[in-house]
Amino acid sequence: MDTIKRFITCYVPVTACNFKCQYCYLRNIKKRSIENFVLPPDKLAEKLSPERLGGIAYFNLCADGETMLHPQLIEFIKNITHMGHYADIITNGTITKKFDELINTLNYEEQSRLMIKFSFHYLMLKQTDLMQTFVDNVNKIKNSNISYSIEITPHDELIEYIDDIKDFSLKNFGALPHITVARDMDTKEIALLTDYSRDEYQKIWGQFESPMFDFKFSTFNKRRKEFCYAGDWSIKLNFENGEYKQCYVGDILGNICDDSPMNFRAIGCCRLPHCYNGHAFLALGNIPELECPTYAEERDRKCNDGTHWLKEECKEFFSTKLYDSNKEYSDERKKRCLEDTKKAIKKDRKEKIIRKIRKTIGQK
Ligand code: SF4
Ligand code: SF4
Repeated sequence: MDTIKRFITCYVPVTACNFKCQYCYLRNIKKRSIENFVLPPDKLAEKLSPERLGGIAYFNLCADGETMLHPQLIEFIKNITHMGHYADIITNGTITKKFDELINTLNYEEQSRLMIKFSFHYLMLKQTDLMQTFVDNVNKIKNSNISYSIEITPHDELIEYIDDIKDFSLKNFGALPHITVARDMDTKEIALLTDYSRDEYQKIWGQFESPMFDFKFSTFNKRRKEFCYAGDWSIKLNFENGEYKQCYVGDILGNICDDSPMNFRAIGCCRLPHCYNGHAFLALGNIPELECPTYAEERDRKCNDGTHWLKEECKEFFSTKLYDSNKEYSDERKKRCLEDTKKAIKKDRKEKIIRKIRKTIGQK
């Protein structure tokens, strides 16, 4: 059985999208483009071989816009799944020719290591008349050896449609969608994106009985104080320039294109107000002492026809944890990481103050 060694969350350089969801994080991005990967897809995959990474990794492939629009994505997926890695693609599920291409390009075994995360944008799908296209693409994946998961980004305007969504989902997907937790990146504390109270929000979206929502919500807005292995067991990688860093924030550790060995160094102390994607980073095991469901438990659903959204290989792999195949640091090493992070935070603060002063002087 394959065990997860690293979780690599990858930025796919696409800011274009065929949808315009009002809760989209893209709304602050003016430039809409698709940029090439830093290396051709086969060469990029070579830089991420199991030998270089120390084992089998799970790649989360996500763009600011629609991920499937990237012309080099499928070739990259083919290469990494062929090497034995696992991956997921986050998509709005409407670019049919890309799903056909994906299924035709990947052989049965490569398909078994891939999961499609369908973002179910109910209102946009209705507005654009693409609901049937979405359902057809979900069924295409269901009938292949690729795993899938369907999720809704909750937003207040959707609440009046909850009963319709439930009926539609049971009829067309055989199960209720999972629910994620929407965040407001414009707030300092990265708050819930809603006008409802925390309790009301939980009650409203808890109706879907989604283990993903339950866990993500339970950690949302809770500052993490434990030692976190992000930077070693997980990294954030930018496909546009090849840089990899500890987490959403944290030090840049290196560039994947360099021939030198990978530089893994845990962040230790979280530098964000909370771990807003804890359903992945925490559930996969970045904080070993934290009790979490498995990623498979969060992503799977059993359909009313008896099939599962996760097929056997993905289910087994996503049931493993990062701490199963990584050794925890000694107290001495943890101390060094924490000191490095403290120094980096101090440096960041200093630079921020300097920038502020320069701006003030410039304005005068
Ligand atoms: S489909 Fe995704 S990327 Fe496109 S507008 Fe909606 S939320 Fe944004
Ligand atoms: S706890 Fe913080 S550093 Fe660790 S994975 Fe979550 S956001 Fe990243």
